[in-house]
Amino acid sequence: MKILLLGSTGSIGKSTLNCVRRFKDSFELAGLTVNNNIEDLAVQVDEFSVSSVCVCSEEAAEDARKMLPSIIKIFKGKKGLEDIVNETDFDILLNALVGAVGFRPTVAALKRKKRVALANKESLVIGGEIISSLLKEGYGELIPVDSEHSAILQCLNGEDPEAIESITITASGGPFRNKNIEHFNTITPKEALNHPTWSMGNKITIDSSTLINKGFEVIEAHYLFKLPYDRLHVMIHPQSIIHSMVTFQDGAVMAQCGVPDMELPIQYALSYPKRLPIMGTRLDLVETGSLTFAEPDFNRFPCLKLCIEAGKQGGTLTTVLNAANEIAVQQFLKGGISFNQIAEVIGQALNKHQNQKVGTVEQIEEIDALTRNQVLKSIKDIKH
Ligand code: MG
Repeated sequence: MKILLLGSTGSIGKSTLNCVRRFKDSFELAGLTVNNNIEDLAVQVDEFSVSSVCVCSEEAAEDARKMLPSIIKIFKGKKGLEDIVNETDFDILLNALVGAVGFRPTVAALKRKKRVALANKESLVIGGEIISSLLKEGYGELIPVDSEHSAILQCLNGEDPEAIESITITASGGPFRNKNIEHFNTITPKEALNHPTWSMGNKITIDSSTLINKGFEVIEAHYLFKLPYDRLHVMIHPQSIIHSMVTFQDGAVMAQCGVPDMELPIQYALSYPKRLPIMGTRLDLVETGSLTFAEPDFNRFPCLKLCIEAGKQGGTLTTVLNAANEIAVQQFLKGGISFNQIAEVIGQALNKHQNQKVGTVEQIEEIDALTRNQVLKSIKDIKH
């Protein structure tokens, strides 16, 4: 299987490379993309003998030309991410890009009837309706890499989708599960970047601290498993051992458990429906001792509620949700807004938006760009 890996120097990207290393006979890399970490890219190109790469800008492409063998095809920029998908020979697209930039490559790979192993959940948040129609028309295959959705897929193996009563997505609750809500306003980026159970990139770690990540995952599950929002539940489970569960119509509950490690869901998305071995730490429930569960607190985590409400209304509202969040997270990391203002800024953007029916990729991108500008402007207004 030839894999085109988008986002090869991030946390998911590096774990994907471990899976490829483990099964050199089954997997090879067709192409890699990075933002601007050309040094690491050069090492990866050398190890995996890929033929195509994409980097974020002309400047990064110039650096890449100097450091990579001249035979390597170098794509650049946002357009390059789409072009590398359209012009490279591959079987599976592993999309580990962060943010809305991952949407077009997902669509392009599906249109080529390829398997997309999706770690870029924003693809489904902003354009779930477009992706769903492509899949319905027989274009490609979408396999989740997100640990919760991989868990659900594993629980559904061999089951009739009609027999599903509900799905419960688990959440660790992030670093602020027990923090006094009165002190949320003084949370620093450093505190928010300290996730208790998962080690991930900056954007998704902040998204996990506000629980908007969990809200995105509810939207993701809605499109992947075709269930209405009132049958999708979120449950706080701080130990991150049960990765999610499915309740069936006869009352049976299937859960997928394991130590938190992204290599399992990544490898499963690559080898699905087969399982390949991974040597590593095994779940020891005696050692874990106890598993605990709680209802999510919407007062503490308003972003989660915003997601579910936007998801229920559908249309272009979830595009606005994602764009506003991307800007809010950037600004929070820069010290431009407080932790509480992340949810406020997103709420305002959603309130302002005139919801539309989703039609085209271009429409979604236009709304995405418009929202980013409006949110940036509103943040400037807050500060002055
Ligand atoms: Mg997840």
